[in-house]
Formats: sequence, structure tokens, C-alpha cells
Amino acid sequence: MVGISVAAYLQEQGKKVAVFEAKSIGQGVTGHSTAKLSSLHKDSYTDVVKNFGDDGAKTYAEVNEAGIDTVERYVQKYKINCEFKRISNFTFTTRDDYVDKLTKEFESTQKAGMKTTFYNTGDVSSQIGLPFPVKAAIGIENQAQFNSYAYISELAKAFVNNGGVIYEDTRISNVHESFDSNSQHTLDVDHYNANANNKTNPLQVTAKHVVLATHLPIADRSGHFTFTKPMMSYVMAFSVHDQSKLPPHMYLNQEENPSLSIRYANKSLDDPNSEKLLVISSGGHLTGAPPKGGNQSGYQETFDNTVQHFGENFIKGVEYKWSAMDYIPADGVPYIGYINRVSNIFTATGFNKWGLSWSAATGKILHDLMSNKEGTEWTKLVDARRWDLKGSIAELTKIVGTVQNI
Ligand SMILES: Cc1cc2nc3c(=O)[nH]c(=O)nc-3n(C[C@H](O)[C@H](O)[C@H](O)COP(=O)(O)OP(=O)(O)OC[C@H]3O[C@@H](n4cnc5c(N)ncnc54)[C@H](O)[C@@H]3O)c2cc1C
Repeated sequence: MVGISVAAYLQEQGKKVAVFEAKSIGQGVTGHSTAKLSSLHKDSYTDVVKNFGDDGAKTYAEVNEAGIDTVERYVQKYKINCEFKRISNFTFTTRDDYVDKLTKEFESTQKAGMKTTFYNTGDVSSQIGLPFPVKAAIGIENQAQFNSYAYISELAKAFVNNGGVIYEDTRISNVHESFDSNSQHTLDVDHYNANANNKTNPLQVTAKHVVLATHLPIADRSGHFTFTKPMMSYVMAFSVHDQSKLPPHMYLNQEENPSLSIRYANKSLDDPNSEKLLVISSGGHLTGAPPKGGNQSGYQETFDNTVQHFGENFIKGVEYKWSAMDYIPADGVPYIGYINRVSNIFTATGFNKWGLSWSAATGKILHDLMSNKEGTEWTKLVDARRWDLKGSIAELTKIVGTVQNI
């Protein structure tokens, strides 16, 4: 999502752009997400207000709303068939002991200037459209769901039709950094020749600006691995007995154990009237550590959580399942911008499993930096060179603790 979104945006601004993709477009996390576009991100605003103040939280919301608008703009501009649909998004809790935390998150979203609504009286479940008991919820209208794989594949085609170049099966294996802002960086490029089942000799390409849209930047001279942690999540798409009972919006619970992300999706991209599926993500854990249920697999945990909330008679069968991981930032905000203080190489990472709206806005952030417009509210908030020593040590300590217990 980052690579193609940034490429398409820079192309619109008149830059000559080439994309090198180690596998194929959309086959990374982007094609394995739950494809919700929202500025309401679980309990993020509590942390963002704490670490970046009310103004930082306002910027956080503004960037993500702009990201959603950017996706909508490209969907319209290139007539992309990706089931883009504006609907509401809710963060909810089913537990009394989480209501205070959710109230605090609601207050933080208000400080961020968001048009959120708090639901904590009466029958909250039916007010927000969920079929199980809910204690409280935060809601925001005019968010969106889509098919992220279809979107990014079609945006990539539009980028190529407009003169852009994409090399798939082509891995960047090294970046030789230039420290003179006027000269070019050199990249070692390995093209994997699937027919010959081997790699061709490495080639070299040069570029004035390089965006490492590879999660943690390859050639990570910036130490981002010390203040992000990789988290695995599992997703399952279920057919259901009664489609009229499918929840009509997007949902994510506040609690971690079990976490529960909910949306619906069409079974067929080409037929808007096709069967609707219930898409659930749950069972997340630190990458490399076992799923929370001990030896139980993440999929089993996701299945069990779905049955526990929707009831045994709701689900007809499992249609699809997939898993992927994303990086969690130490202080609640992604790292988007220069990887270090000495050269114009860029990264965008640490999306906290909310990278789709962030990615869509990343083109503007990086274009501003490439145009020497440093110091905007957007670039300052996400500055990838910020160092959170306290947060990094806390995160690393937790990770080392988890790894030792495996
Ligand atoms: C289960 C799950 C559900 C999610 N759901 C949502 C959601 O509903 N909404 C939301 O906003 N976010 C969601 N996210 C997060 C979101 O999907 C990610 O933040 C986002 O897709 C990251 O995009 P990306 O471009 O950084 O990564 P990717 O899509 O993984 O792209 C990175 C690309 O870099 C390529 N690459 C790596 N190394 C090299 C190299 N050396 N040379 C060339 N190419 C290379 C890879 O092949 C890959 O294609 C979810 C994440 C997970 C795990």
C-alpha cells in the first residue's frame, strides 16, 4: 500500500518514479488485511494525546481522514472496482471493566476534534448493530471499507498506464547511500527469474530519492527495529446462515484478550449482489511467540471467539482464512519520513495495524519532504527520526521477556 500509494501520488506531482517489488504487488500485508479505512483506531488517541498533546491528536485524525479521501479520489479517478463503501466504524467493549478506558478514549477523540459519538445507555448492541451484548461504544460516521488487494492492483495498473514503471520479482538487496543531497543513491537490484529458478546478476539503479516501503526499512541504519514490534493477526471469512443479520458497519473491540475485528465483505468482487461474508480478525500475538491460547492455533482462537460472540448457529462455514503481521510503534504514531539525519532516504512503518489510511496519506507527507517543506504539522507528527528511548526500552524489555518464555 505504501509503495504504490506513494508512487501514484509522486507521479501526479510530476516525478519520474520506478517501483521495485520483491514478490508481486499487493501480496504483502496489504492484500492480507481486513481492509478498513478509518481515523478511529481502537484506543490510539489516549496514547497520542498523552505523547503528542491535543494538537498531535488533531493532526493524527486529519492525516487519516485525508488518507480515506485519497483512496476515494483514486477510486473515482481510475474507476477502481474494489468495493469501496462509506460506512461507520465503532470501537466497542463487552466488559464493564473496560468502560472507563473507552470513556477516556472517547474524550481523547473529542480532543482530536473528531465527530465521534459515545454510546453507553440503553441497548448499545442494537444501536450499533451487533448481535451480542455490548457495554459501550465509540462511533464515527463516513469511514470506509474496501478490498485492499483489488484497490492496490488497479492503482498499480493506472500508475503504469500513466508512464510509471514497476519491476516485480525484483528485490533491492542493498542501498549505497549518498550523503550529498544533490547526488544519487545507488541500489543493488536482484531480479528473480522464476523460469530459470535463479537470480540474474545484480544490477544497479540510481535515484535521487529512495522510499524504502518494506515495513522496517531494509538497510535499517536508523534502528527502527528497536522501537517497533511485529504483531501477528489471523483473519477468517465465514459464510452465514442469515445474511440479513450481518453487522452493517465496521467494529473493533477495546479489549486485547480476545481482540475482535468485525466487518462484512462480498464474496465476489464482480457481483455486488453476491453472498456477503462475515470477516473476523482475532487471535493476535507477538510474531514468533505462540498464540495466546497456548498451543491452540491463531485460527482456532479466531474461530472460537467468533462462535463465542455470534453463537454456533450464526456461522455456516469457513470460506477463507489468512494471517499477516504489522509493526507496532512505541509511542502510538507511525514513523514516516527520513530514515536518518544525513540522507534523503525515506521510510513509512509502525502502522499499528492501521496502515491503509496512513499509507494513502504518505505520498503527500513524503512529497512535502522531497520538496523541502519540512516542518508541516503532518511531517512533524510522524517524523521517522524521533527517538523514544523510554518507549523503546519498555517495548524491547516486553519482547525479550516474551521471547524468553517461548
Ligand atoms: C491481519 C491484519 C489486518 C489489518 N487490517 C487493517 C485494516 O483493516 N485497516 C488498516 O488501515 N490497516 C490494517 N492492517 C495494517 C495494514 O495492512 C498495513 O499497515 C499496511 O498494509 C502496510 O503496508 P505496506 O506497504 O507497508 O506493507 P506491504 O503491503 O507488506 O508491502 C511491503 C512490500 O515490500 C516488499 N518488499 C519487502 N522487502 C523488499 C525488498 N528488499 N525489495 C523489494 N521489495 C521488498 C514486500 O514484498 C511487500 O510487497 C492490518 C494488518 C494485519 C496484519
